[in-house]
Amino acid sequence: MELVYSLLLLYLTFVRNAIAEDRKSITFTDKCDLGKLKLKGTRDLNFYQPDQIKRIRLIKRADGYYVQFCIQVDRVELVPMTGKTIGLDVGLKEFYTDSYGEMVPNPRFLRRGEARLKRAQRLVSRKVKGGLNRRKARVILGKRHLKISRQRKDHAIKLARCVITSNDVVVYEDLKVSNMVKNHCLAKSISDASWYQFRMFLEYFGKVFGRITIAVNPAYTSQECSSCGFVVKKSLSTRTHICQCGCEMDRDHNAAINILNRGISTTGHVGTSIFEIVNA
Ligand SMILES: [Zn+2]
Repeated sequence: MELVYSLLLLYLTFVRNAIAEDRKSITFTDKCDLGKLKLKGTRDLNFYQPDQIKRIRLIKRADGYYVQFCIQVDRVELVPMTGKTIGLDVGLKEFYTDSYGEMVPNPRFLRRGEARLKRAQRLVSRKVKGGLNRRKARVILGKRHLKISRQRKDHAIKLARCVITSNDVVVYEDLKVSNMVKNHCLAKSISDASWYQFRMFLEYFGKVFGRITIAVNPAYTSQECSSCGFVVKKSLSTRTHICQCGCEMDRDHNAAINILNRGISTTGHVGTSIFEIVNA
């Protein structure tokens, strides 16, 4: 505990010593002793006070070294209420299907990028271990990985922001990360990773824009009928939900409605109660 605290203090003093007045360069004076480095990039650090910068991290990426600044800000933005609620069901084929029946497909650039990633991966495994050509192929693979993860993150941020600003309540499945890591299917694990990131940004923007985000238990959401509650067993290949009550719709649309209903039933009442008004 003490160690963490002293480290933190060290970092703080270190930050004050390190960043230049004009915030255009940074000097590392600790053990690694890198000396003065020029800062490149689009972010303007002049916008923040030095004591708002809580942490600095040096990160190595496939295309160079980066300095990451951890900045403390209270970000709250006011946007008008929409009166809309939405449930989201994640899928392999579509990025998600919502409770209105709208499907958001996986973007083309991601699919193209994933194909290129697989190709680069094959090239690495074909080269002789320990050889120069293998090292070269690995650099290419690293860059492809980096590019696609940036594209994925960008897509997740834009989509999450859009979903949050156009709804007051957003409900999605509470998928467990431990289950996700276990699967070995590439397409599945990629979609799990993007979904996890998307959920993180949903919750982040939920706080920024003052919206309600709810994660619900995903059990049986695709099996239950959204209009009568009857359990209709279906395998993964069954794409349509057909119930004895006459309800017939896309499998994921049905699941998204179930997710939304589950979320609404867990929230209970929010705001001023009509009984309080009557009794007052
Ligand atoms: Zn039914």
